[in-house]
Amino acid sequence: MADKLLPFGKEKIVEIIKKYPTPFHIYDENAIRQNARNFLKVFGILQGFRQFFAVKATPNPYILKILKQEGLGVDCSSLAELEMAERMGFKDEEIMFSSNDTPAEEFLKARKLGAIINLDDISHIEYLEKHAGIPDLVCLRYNPGPARKGNGIIGKPEEAKYGLTREQMVEAYRILKKKGAKRFGMHTMVISNELHESYFIETARMMFELAVEVHKKAGIKIEFVNLGGGIGIPYRPEDKPVSYERIAEGVRESYNKIIVGNNLHPLGIFTECGRVITGPYGYLATRVRHVKHIYKDYVGTDASMANLMRPGMYGAYHHITVLGKENAPKNHLYDVTGSLCENNDKFAINRKLPEIAPGDLLVIHDTGAHGFAMGFNYNGKLRSAELLLRHDGSVVKIRRAETISDYFATLDFNGAKKFK
Ligand SMILES: *Cc1c(COP(=O)(O)O)cnc(C)c1O
Repeated sequence: MADKLLPFGKEKIVEIIKKYPTPFHIYDENAIRQNARNFLKVFGILQGFRQFFAVKATPNPYILKILKQEGLGVDCSSLAELEMAERMGFKDEEIMFSSNDTPAEEFLKARKLGAIINLDDISHIEYLEKHAGIPDLVCLRYNPGPARKGNGIIGKPEEAKYGLTREQMVEAYRILKKKGAKRFGMHTMVISNELHESYFIETARMMFELAVEVHKKAGIKIEFVNLGGGIGIPYRPEDKPVSYERIAEGVRESYNKIIVGNNLHPLGIFTECGRVITGPYGYLATRVRHVKHIYKDYVGTDASMANLMRPGMYGAYHHITVLGKENAPKNHLYDVTGSLCENNDKFAINRKLPEIAPGDLLVIHDTGAHGFAMGFNYNGKLRSAELLLRHDGSVVKIRRAETISDYFATLDFNGAKKFK
């Protein structure tokens, strides 16, 4: 089986480690730019196409800057994400605000930024009106319920907390129209990490049909549909990457039939992908601390679930390369672990790898999205640095590693000592 390739070899990582100790996430700027360009080019065949990067996937100002330069907008879902977008110069309709269980202050912030507000519930219309006012442009998030199956990570739409039902969608647009809204968008997100192109084409068809229904029943014309994120990436060496071309072609065909066919052209098509934009272009570099042989063989690293939670949380596969042993036979079976006092703190279970010794350097692949971002401090574990590998081979530190003082910063030791 072909192995997954790296944009650097052992020598490069050894050189980087002299300045930035392991563990760290490193992102490949060149590959992120190339992919973003290609994404926009291929989906550019669609009417009014726009892609909003889901900030939660890789919330780092440098990454946002790169994507802004490449012409992407941002999709935010919290105050911190809105603020990060604002500070990096995103404004107005470059920002999509797709949140849920939203506090008033976030609606207010989104309104001030002129962001496209995407409501998660019919009751949020009144809430938004009361706290921030109804903007001209409002988007509604649709939950198709039993009409769609969903997939692994996100679960069945019927049991998902997001969005409005079909009946509520029509009713909500009527209410918004009455309250003075003039422009209307429609959003959905029903799948996550999906590698089958047909799911996205099917989602587009469902949304186009709903746009026709809303036009008939509520008398409003939908300005855009946002198909959400959820395009998967090939985490396993045998996985095939999604064909952007096939999705774009399929969506266009459906658009021509349903939207053009019902005289609703032009209607813009948006996406808010995170994973597929940066996921494959980030790597977690970590050093092996200990190797132990008990009932199984364990490789203990200097990273942990605090740096990459997906394997522990979802049982997700992340490929691992042992640097300098790329061509050695994979004739050992290991669990690759972190140091958390939790037995699910494993990057891999029963993984075939070359023989590993303490001091070896491992690279865990595909950590460019939902990797660092999901980090946490349980067990007093600290979040790592993030580095950017530039086109000329230079490395920029785009986030420093946390220190123990960061961890203690919210505590009051003096108060505790005096406390009786
Ligand atoms: C997480 C999320 C995304 C991005 O999903 P990816 O799987 O990273 O593409 C987009 N939209 C919403 C509303 C999300 O919650």
